[in-house]
Amino acid sequence: MTDIKELLLSRIRDVPDYPEPGVMFKDITPLLADPAAFTALTDALAELCVRHGATKVVGLEARGFILGAPVAVRAGLGFIPVRKAGKLPGATLSQSYDLEYGSAEIEVHAEDLSASDRVMVIDDVLATGGTAEAALHLIRRAGAEVAGVAVLMELGFLPGRDRLEPALEGAPLDAL
Ligand code: AMP
Repeated sequence: MTDIKELLLSRIRDVPDYPEPGVMFKDITPLLADPAAFTALTDALAELCVRHGATKVVGLEARGFILGAPVAVRAGLGFIPVRKAGKLPGATLSQSYDLEYGSAEIEVHAEDLSASDRVMVIDDVLATGGTAEAALHLIRRAGAEVAGVAVLMELGFLPGRDRLEPALEGAPLDAL
């Protein structure tokens, strides 16, 4: 295992049965509290943004904001929040997606993305892939191109990568 992978893994806390029975919650707060680990993560994600030619960083609410904002600053790019429905004050584009029970909706300010943008999507965890998939649809509907998706970790026992594959349309998915 590489040094950075070992460092990041050592700062992620597994919380069983949170927020409900049967879920193993990946708590990144120990990582955020460790400046060496947080810096290493920020640098690695920023490097991916540069490598994939991104012009904007999209962070997915809520932990994608905590990770994506310093990545955008580090890479010299603008940061665009993709929020849960009803939180953005301006004109938005919305995208619904299915959850195990029911559905959810995310939004972006329509004016934040344009045809000249290549967008890197940042989040902490790729689980079922539903949130990231919806974000990719939003980005394309806004007229922008997808540079890639980069997450701290993917849950290998869930089919997130497979679900996301068609929406990636060949763009890279990196899990550190
Ligand atoms: P999904 O749409 O299923 O890929 O879920 C992704 C979103 O839910 C991410 O924004 C994660 O922050 C959160 N999430 C899902 N499962 C977990 C988990 N086991 N531990 C921590 N966060 C999770």
